[in-house]
Parts: sequence; C-alpha cells; structure tokens
Amino acid sequence: MKKTILLTALVLSGLTSFAQSNDEKNIKLFYKKALTESKAYTWLEYLSNDIGARLSGSQNAQLAVNYTKSQLESLGLDKVYLQEVMVPHWVRGEKESAFILNGKVKTAVPICALGGSVATAKTGLTAEVIEVQGIKELAELGDKVKGKIVFFNRPMNPENVETFISYGACVDQRFAGAKEAAKLGAVGTIVRSMNLRLDDFPHTGAQSYGDLTKEQYIPTAAISTNGAELLSATLKSNPSLKFYFKQSCETLPDVLSYNVIGELTGTVTPENIMVVGGHLDSWDLADGSQDDGAGVVQSMEVVRILKNLNYKPKNTIRVVLFMNEENGGKGGAKYEEVSKQKNENHIFALESDSGGFSPRGFSIEADDANLKKIQGFRDLFEPYLVHSFTIGHAGSDISHLTSKAIVKAGLKPDSQRYFDYHHAANDKFDAVNKRELELGAATMASLVYLLDQTGIEMPKAN
Ligand SMILES: [Zn+2]
Repeated sequence: MKKTILLTALVLSGLTSFAQSNDEKNIKLFYKKALTESKAYTWLEYLSNDIGARLSGSQNAQLAVNYTKSQLESLGLDKVYLQEVMVPHWVRGEKESAFILNGKVKTAVPICALGGSVATAKTGLTAEVIEVQGIKELAELGDKVKGKIVFFNRPMNPENVETFISYGACVDQRFAGAKEAAKLGAVGTIVRSMNLRLDDFPHTGAQSYGDLTKEQYIPTAAISTNGAELLSATLKSNPSLKFYFKQSCETLPDVLSYNVIGELTGTVTPENIMVVGGHLDSWDLADGSQDDGAGVVQSMEVVRILKNLNYKPKNTIRVVLFMNEENGGKGGAKYEEVSKQKNENHIFALESDSGGFSPRGFSIEADDANLKKIQGFRDLFEPYLVHSFTIGHAGSDISHLTSKAIVKAGLKPDSQRYFDYHHAANDKFDAVNKRELELGAATMASLVYLLDQTGIEMPKAN
C-alpha cells in the first residue's frame, strides 16, 4: 500500500515523467507546464499592476527587486542573491506640454521628454522648426538650424516584416539627434516616435549628449506619430510656424540598485554557466509589461519549470534580472565585470527583451558550428510554430558577456505589435496575452534544456 502511494506521488510530482533522453517528450512537457500551470502571468500582473513603472533609481525599481527576489526564493533554487550596481536616476518631473503655433492657431500635440534630456526654461521654449529626415540631412543644413528646433521625422519603414530592422534604421535620430543638432546651434529637438502605427502616444527612450559640455545640452522630446504628421503637414503650408514645448525633467545623483540572480547549480560541470534573463527596469510612462516585464517573468518561469520537474542540469543555469537596460546598461556591464573578477565561464546566454508575443524563433550570435547546432533543433520546435533560427542581435544586457566561447540568443517573438507599445504609456498589463507569454517561456526553457544536454561546440585549438 505504502509503495503504491509513493509511486503515485512520484508520477504526480512529474519526477518520473521527465525522461532525460527524450528531447521531443521533454519539450512537450515544458510547453504543457507553461500552458497549464505557469506563474509568469501572475508575476507579471504583480509587477505591472501592484508595482508599476520601474525606471532605474525609482522606488518602484527597488520594489521590483524585492518582489522578484522573494519569488525566486520561493522556487527553492540553489542560490538567490542580489548584485549591487550603481544606476542613473533621471526623473521626468511634471507632464510635458507642447503646441504648434501657426499664426493665431494654437494646436496641442502629445510629447514626452526623452530619457536623459534636460528641461526647457520654466517658461518653456519657443522657436521656428526645421524638419529633417535624419542626421545626414541635418549635417547638410549646417548652421541653418541655428536658433531653431530640429524636427526629426524619419518614419519607421513599414515594408520590413521584421519591425526591429525598421527600428534600427531610425533610432539614431532619437539617440543622437539632440547631440548633433546642438553642435550646429539648434535650441531643441523633437523626434517622431518610434512607432509604425499612427496614434497619440509619444514614445520615450534613451538619448545621449555624448561628449558635449553641459552648457551645450538642449532639451529633446518625442512627439506622437499623429503629432508628427500634423506638424509636418502644417510646416508645408507655413514654414515659419513656431513650436512651443515645456518639460521639467532632471538627472539626480546615481542610486544603488541591484541585479537579481537565482541559480540551479550544475551537477556535472557547475563551472559552466548558462544565463537566462530579461531586464527588470522599465521606462516611467507605463508598467513596461512588454518591455521588459514579459522577459523577466519568462526567465523566472524557465527556472520554475526546470526546478518543478526536478531537472538536474549538467551546467549551472542562472536566471539574471538585469537592472538599468533602458537608460545606461549598467546592470549588464556590472554582471560581466563581476563575472570577470570571479573568473566565471559562461557558455550560453539567452535574453528575452522583444516583448511577450507569440514566439517565432531565436536571434542568434554564434560561430558557424554553434549556429548549425541550434538550427539542427529546428524540427523539435516546429510543432510549436517556432521556426526562425537566424543570426542577429541577441540582447543588450547579455551583449557585455565576453567568455572565451559563448553562444548568445534572443527570444524572437512576432514583432508586428511591439512598437505599438514600446516605451509608451500604453505598455501595460492588458497589452500582454497570457498564452503568448507562456509559449515564449516554454520556448526558452526548451533551448536552455537542449543546450544544457548537448553542450556548445568549442572552437578548435590552433
Ligand atoms: Zn527592453
């Protein structure tokens, strides 16, 4: 009788349902676990609705550190700890305002300060506007922009199915537009939001003044896509219209914050580390449910599934919730710095930072041998409609990692809707679909498992 009870308990616990040698079966089990008993959505709900926006240096960012640490502890991992990191502390201040001043007609348009921007004067800034399609066109204008507001209006190219390509082709005007315009004597910049959709949400994001002196800094803001269309059309009929905007953001002293780390220690080669992670900080305009609450809870779900199945990894599997991806990348850099000090050896890193949409595959940074190896897993993922295994950027937090032989991958979800929400006030919990989020977590768990089982290809010694 007792024996029967014990056996039943073992079967129910999943211990015996996990077959070390059957990849197809095990992957099916990961998807089943994710779709039937995942904690990812519950975690995301708390991060989004109970905590909210988590910009680096904010109190909410600290609450998110505390919460995810306690949740990782509840999973019974081998280790859970915090890693100290100093992060920038930029605050938006009161809500921005902006108007197109076309003769006697004054039209309000939605803007938001870009991260790291300086404030305007307390009374705001008013100037004529010069529209450009990018930094190259700005350079051609030279000192014609002196005393004016430069309006960067290059839209994201709708022809690319992979929308990150369109983002990459535009984002320089947001990141470096103010710096370049300031060099030519402009007094401010307004940047079209990185959004394929026409709507009323301004999208913030990081910008940098580079090596300018503080006296050279000019205020910079994003305008909604509808606002950009209106400004551009009005400029065509009245090139000498004026634009007014007011913002009161400022940069405060750096703040002590943390990366949150949990570990399942390897049972064969514990010195070989496999990282799975996302970033805990978000922009301040909304909850950051897609960017990157989704990646955080998916990464936590990966270790939850493996632990729950009593999987004994060969290598150490480490979940890392990075701080400060959005406006500094300090968490990723600190993680690598500490890893170097400890002489750690990373063989694999997987990041989820492209939203919690239906997974389509992975964006891979690897040599030919390892790329081929991961592409060889394709058939195992095909039943889950995950089939895109291509070379590409894996993730900015893991970009710092420099172990001798390391394979990096980024979860690649369908990207059609990502830029509807990215860095905007609508990046909220209801923007994330529960099943899509869970499918991403299962996809990540499957790749971690496969590479843990098979190891990576080491470069041939010369
Ligand atoms: Zn992100």
